[in-house]
Amino acid sequence: MFEKIVIANRGEIALRIQRACRELGIKTVAVHSDADKNLKHVLLADESVCIGPASSMESYLNVPALISAAEVTDAQAIHPGYGFLSENADFAERVEESGFVFIGPRPDSIRTMGDKVQAIKAMLKAEVPTVPGSDGALGDDPDVNIRIGQKIGYPVIIKASGGGGGRGMRVVRSEASLLNAISLTKTEAGATFGNDEVYMEKYLETPRHIEIQVIADEHGNAVHLGERDCSMQRRHQKVVEEAPAPGISEEIRNKIGSRCAEACRQIGYRGAGTFEFLYENGEFYFIEMNTRLQVEHPVTEFITGVDLVREQLRVAAGLPLSFSQSDIKIRGHAIECRINAEDPKNFMPSPGKIDTYHAPGGPGVRVDSHIYSGYTVPPYYDSMIGKLITYGNDRSIAIARMNTALSEMVVQGIKTNIPLQQDILSDTAFKAGGTNIHYLEKKLGL
Ligand code: ADP
Repeated sequence: MFEKIVIANRGEIALRIQRACRELGIKTVAVHSDADKNLKHVLLADESVCIGPASSMESYLNVPALISAAEVTDAQAIHPGYGFLSENADFAERVEESGFVFIGPRPDSIRTMGDKVQAIKAMLKAEVPTVPGSDGALGDDPDVNIRIGQKIGYPVIIKASGGGGGRGMRVVRSEASLLNAISLTKTEAGATFGNDEVYMEKYLETPRHIEIQVIADEHGNAVHLGERDCSMQRRHQKVVEEAPAPGISEEIRNKIGSRCAEACRQIGYRGAGTFEFLYENGEFYFIEMNTRLQVEHPVTEFITGVDLVREQLRVAAGLPLSFSQSDIKIRGHAIECRINAEDPKNFMPSPGKIDTYHAPGGPGVRVDSHIYSGYTVPPYYDSMIGKLITYGNDRSIAIARMNTALSEMVVQGIKTNIPLQQDILSDTAFKAGGTNIHYLEKKLGL
């Protein structure tokens, strides 16, 4: 196992990684920007290194500064967390070329899965179900593209191969607007992602977002840890997540999960990863793979008893997974509410000083957050200030516990989305389970 690692991230996830390291006896180096010297994990770290000014470009995305932090502190590995450089194949490569272990997949896996056309090809090979669509990137022949559209059937969606963050997509409802949409998306994709390759997919009108968590080691073992339902979204940002997904039977779970594990074995995948699917009328359609730990990983940890960060560290150190597929039993139900520093009505970020903070607690309650009374939320980064996760033997208990936990949670001095989360948790359709990805925006009148 490693003796010391660098945590190349901030906020709650940096603290989460630090906690896993503590349990394993690994020393941690916290790297931080000028604006982040009072972050909880920085104050608790064995060592800390300031890597640049507040701007992410000059700090958390500053590759040379991160590599030198690892060098000067004599660390052995770098954990990228999520966001920032976590899915940047060039960074993973630089880390390894500099003699450190990247705690994540091999750079070539990140590269393949980061290119959606290539990722879909790999999925087809592994018999993971994909959205009906063009076989690879679209060419320049208008007649061919029109025929592809006819074959798929309208509506279709044009997507950039290099796209991400919900950008680089355009829905097309009739043949008359197809060619124009293709050329617009191509131009935008070239300018935004430096890659103008686009492809066409069937546009699903009312899908749910269901994703499968996997983890694989370097010894050919790959295990799936069931699914999460992340359909409660606003502007492609997840707001509430839960596991298991309402209405998914063990048989369906194992069928799709084992395809994902098989895909990992085929591509020689290492580490934690998530296969994202749209789910409609009982069918799964792969949309993309995230080659990193996800924000919502705690709900999976609750229902499987697996510590995903601990397992990531073990796998990166070359150790085998500490369990096999038959050890994984899904038990109970978990829900996560993302807590953001934002106005619950207009979603404007609300940075500033937290005067008072009371954390909720009790049976089946987990709080992953770096905030404390007196902490100032800086305006430079993502507005998420923590995650509240509850667990129960069944979904109704997890919901009841979340309601109690939300009512106990006090964050004063800044605005938070706690009132919005309370609204969602008491929503009739949410309580019934199985709402689609457009539900929240409709409810909010957006
Ligand atoms: P990104 O990498 O930008 O997140 P995704 O491929 O994951 O891109 O798609 C983001 C979102 O766009 C999905 O969660 C879904 O809401 C919508 N979307 C993507 N593809 C389709 C599709 N074929 N039909 C309907 N909605 C889609």
